[in-house]
Amino acid sequence: MDAPNQVSQQEAAQPTAAPAPAPAGTAAPVDPLAGQTAKQSSSNATEHQSQVRQQYPPPQVDQTQNAQPSASNQQPTQPNPNQQNPAAQQRQRVMARDRYNHQSLGASLNSSVKQARVLMVGAGGIGCELLKNLVLTGFAEIHIVDLDTIDLSNLNRQFLFRQEHIKKSKALVAKDAATKFNPNVKIVAHHANIKDDEFTVSWFKDFSIVFNALDNLEARRHVNKMCLAADVPLIESGTTGFNGQVQVIKKRSTACYDCTPKDTPKSFPVCTIRSTPSQPIHCIVWGKTSEIEELKKESEALKKIRDAVGTNNFPQMLFDKVFHSDIERLRSVEDMWKSRRKPEPLKYETVYTQATEAVASKDQILSDGQRVWTLEENLVVFKDSLDRLSKRMLDLKKAKDPAEAEPIITFDKDDIDTLDFVASGANIRSTIFGIDRKSRFDIKEMAGNIIPAIATTNAIVAGLCVLEAFKVLKGDYGQAKEVFLTPFAAARLLAPDTLRLPNPDCPVCGVFNISIKADLSRATLNDVVEDIVKKQLGFGDKEFVLSNEVGIMYDVDETENLPKKLSDLGIKGGSFLTVVDEDDDEEPFVNIVIDVEDSIIDENDKPVQPKFEGSPKIPRKPTKAAVTNDDANGMQQNGTKTSQPGPETESKGVKRAHPGDDAPPTKKAKLTTDDEDVVVVHDVGGAIVIDDD
Ligand SMILES: [Zn+2]
Repeated sequence: MDAPNQVSQQEAAQPTAAPAPAPAGTAAPVDPLAGQTAKQSSSNATEHQSQVRQQYPPPQVDQTQNAQPSASNQQPTQPNPNQQNPAAQQRQRVMARDRYNHQSLGASLNSSVKQARVLMVGAGGIGCELLKNLVLTGFAEIHIVDLDTIDLSNLNRQFLFRQEHIKKSKALVAKDAATKFNPNVKIVAHHANIKDDEFTVSWFKDFSIVFNALDNLEARRHVNKMCLAADVPLIESGTTGFNGQVQVIKKRSTACYDCTPKDTPKSFPVCTIRSTPSQPIHCIVWGKTSEIEELKKESEALKKIRDAVGTNNFPQMLFDKVFHSDIERLRSVEDMWKSRRKPEPLKYETVYTQATEAVASKDQILSDGQRVWTLEENLVVFKDSLDRLSKRMLDLKKAKDPAEAEPIITFDKDDIDTLDFVASGANIRSTIFGIDRKSRFDIKEMAGNIIPAIATTNAIVAGLCVLEAFKVLKGDYGQAKEVFLTPFAAARLLAPDTLRLPNPDCPVCGVFNISIKADLSRATLNDVVEDIVKKQLGFGDKEFVLSNEVGIMYDVDETENLPKKLSDLGIKGGSFLTVVDEDDDEEPFVNIVIDVEDSIIDENDKPVQPKFEGSPKIPRKPTKAAVTNDDANGMQQNGTKTSQPGPETESKGVKRAHPGDDAPPTKKAKLTTDDEDVVVVHDVGGAIVIDDD
């Protein structure tokens, strides 16, 4: 999920984000890495060690005592660190740090911090910085959830990771690295997807604060929803290049992640890509979608070309098909070119005869990805990359089991063979359409949608997360801010903004959450409808619709699911059901979201049980008048905000995009524009999906 930075591999292998360890022997109070490097030991440290233990028991042993250091232990003795063993030195540092935390945060907040159990989702760019901050601040227990493994390209900024950790779990390695900073902090790592069933609403409920350090929209929305259902405060953060933001989300107090619509994905009409490109990106998207493996899916006319893979004729056949005959066919559609420049088809033979010089300096061209190649140079790269790809394809075919599917090579911006092919193909097509050619370097960024990740931005945002967490721990939501980091804005580097109020129409937080226990082996939909919705929630004879993520399960005309077991309807522990009040009365209830918890219930008891007591007081849907009134109070209704600080452009794009840490959003939804077909840039695996629906 983590898009590599735009650096060469050599650069990426040299971590630059790690703070330099202080020389062992200095009594640096904040020195996270010294514990890893200090190697001195001493035989007479035992006595001091027990003394330290007495003065500063670890938080889990006695937190209250530790939280209020007496005057006498504010200045503990500091023997020469050279005479201590590393463990004693480490304790010394933790002790000193706690003293400073106590001084800067105050006794009460420092005590809350030392009792707080927090969840950090994502251990990438922001996550590494944030985990370091949380550990050094002395949070009692930190759970990390991350599904990713470490990649070489992470190392320049995700400073908890080293070369030897490549391919290992980010969560586990981050835990091991950060534990060394402060052994008194309990860190629990989960190498898992936060959307997994094990992370239920009740699991979320056990945390004081959740931190989102994620790089994709889908996971962010999921955690937002879970935190609202569990009523746990969420600190949401994101960075894109130099921009970043931090937002505090608390049910009923602030806007949630989904209160404002997010930017729609970048997309292009199919006809633009296929027939009338006008920008380099159009040709790059075309290049990415017309790779070798795509040829398989195309018409029978390509069979001959496919069969030629690996032969000397293959590059020429492919070239003449896509850059000559296809273009000739496009030219023949006269209507298309009334107000546009007609594309000029190219013949392989013609270009090749002019390319003698380029052919001779092939290696030089291939090693220079920063320069914009000439048409002839692009031809040389096109032919060479196809030779390389064909060879790989033949090797793959040779190695494959006859029962397996045909091998494919997919575009990967870090796979130089596919990048060369896409870059040269896009440039040749650009030439045909009279569009500027681009360097391979630029094309790599455009094709990979790479926005360079910047360690400093992550560090600033992670720091802001902890500052907001302090306000949350104090319950001081009035002071909590939504902060935008916008270095290139005209006004301020950091633009703090008061938290927005919840959008009453928000489909995610404008709902009433309840939890029920269900014995899934015998509970039916009827049990939920009768015992929970009608009886416990007081819907009685009201008309309502009950649905899950898939669709409507029950309404007044749709009753055939009632006798079915919940398990047969695909409901499991962690599923959500939504009840929508359809009654025409003046004040319908807000939507109710039911979190289903799988549990074993005694045979003699009803198979579904509410997890709330009495009849809950469900709020009513806001009337139109109330919404307008809220709007006047600075409520954000449709993504436009009235009380935006500074110039309008200041945080535009950052605010609504909720950018990923290192990568653009990994999954982008299909657009539903009126009639136009669109190409949706689908970044999972670097693929671009052409949607013709
Ligand atoms: Zn909301």
